[in-house]
Amino acid sequence: MLPSFRLIKIFDIDIRIHASFFILPAAVSFFYARDYGYIVGVRACTLILLVFACILGHELCHSLQARRFGILVPRITLYPIGGVAGLQRIPREPKQEFAISIVGPLFNFTLALLLFFPFYYWLGRENLFSPSLDSWPKMWANVFWLNPVLGLFNLVPAFPMDGGRILRSLLARKMSYLKATLFCVNLGRIFAILFLLLGVFYKYWTLALVGLFIYLSADSEKRQAYFYDEHDSQN
Ligand SMILES: [Zn+2]
Repeated sequence: MLPSFRLIKIFDIDIRIHASFFILPAAVSFFYARDYGYIVGVRACTLILLVFACILGHELCHSLQARRFGILVPRITLYPIGGVAGLQRIPREPKQEFAISIVGPLFNFTLALLLFFPFYYWLGRENLFSPSLDSWPKMWANVFWLNPVLGLFNLVPAFPMDGGRILRSLLARKMSYLKATLFCVNLGRIFAILFLLLGVFYKYWTLALVGLFIYLSADSEKRQAYFYDEHDSQN
């Protein structure tokens, strides 16, 4: 297992970077610089760092909302495939789980809304609607578009994504927590297999990796729900 390093402390939360994280900007910059020139490599690296700044904002929103419900969040760790807020427990109160989960995607949608007009005037219409790494304004256009994409992607109803938790919290109001979890786990598996197949078919390996990650996460969520259920029936 690779270690993680403490980067900074925000709102008393340790922001950590997993060692494997460094591979991503280094590899991407190297390949872009080699194939398209040095400056494109620098733009690619800048974009990755800005992607992670947006992810960090998203995770901080989850963390601060969790703290409002008395849940400790000692750290947020950034991995190459995204960020993880280390909540000490996932609340089983559906309203709390809903509130904690929804603020992440809301952060990205709000940021996109706030950035739209400033970016429209700053970058110009043409640059804003043709994101790429061909110029700096087009690189910034990527930063705008990645926010609605991140927001929507996180709303996919599969664990460990926010959409899975949002759906469970909504279902858990009408049925037992275990039943709601099992429904979301199975739905999540369908999405995982879909992502995996699409990723392999189109050779879009990040998507395939995400599919695999979702599939494996579904199991741990299921185990946890069974554990709670047994625990409840013993009390
Ligand atoms: Zn999230």
